[in-house]
Amino acid sequence: MDNNDLNNEEQIKPPVAFFLMPVDILKGVHEELSEILGPETASLVIYNCGVRSGKNIVNDMDISFPDIETLSTILPELWLQLGIGVFSIEILDKEHVHIVCEDSNEAQALGYTGERSCNLTCGFLAGMFSTIFERKYKCSENSCTSCGESQCIFDLVLDE
Ligand SMILES: [Zn+2]
Repeated sequence: MDNNDLNNEEQIKPPVAFFLMPVDILKGVHEELSEILGPETASLVIYNCGVRSGKNIVNDMDISFPDIETLSTILPELWLQLGIGVFSIEILDKEHVHIVCEDSNEAQALGYTGERSCNLTCGFLAGMFSTIFERKYKCSENSCTSCGESQCIFDLVLDE
C-alpha cells in the first residue's frame, strides 16, 4: 500500500518540527523589526506572526480537544513541551481565557523593556484558541515580567 491508497483521514500528519534557537535571536528579531517599523507596528507584526504560528501548530499537530476541562490540562503541557514557558490556565471558558505564565521565554529573551512585551506569545495563544474553538480571539497581555511585574498574564476574549 502506498500513500495513494490512504484517504485523508488515514494519513498520519508529520510531527511538528523543532529547531532550537538562542533567545538572543528572538531578541534580535524584536529589535530589528522595532527599528525598521517602529515599536507599535513591530509589536503588531510580531503578534500576527504569533497568530499564524498558533493556528499552524494546532492544525499540524492534528490534536483533538475533547472538552474545556481537558484543555486546561493538555495545553499547559503542550506549551511546556514547545518550550514557550510554564503556563497555567486559571479561567477557561469559551468567552474568556485567563492564562498565567511565571517564566515566559519571550520575556526572558527580551529582558527588562519597561513594557509588556510578549507579543509573539500573545498572538500565538490567540491563534491557538481561534483554531481550537473555531472562533476569532484576541489576546492582551495585562502583566509582564519584562516591565518588572511578577508574572506574564494573558487574557483572551472573543474578537467577533
Ligand atoms: Zn510577558
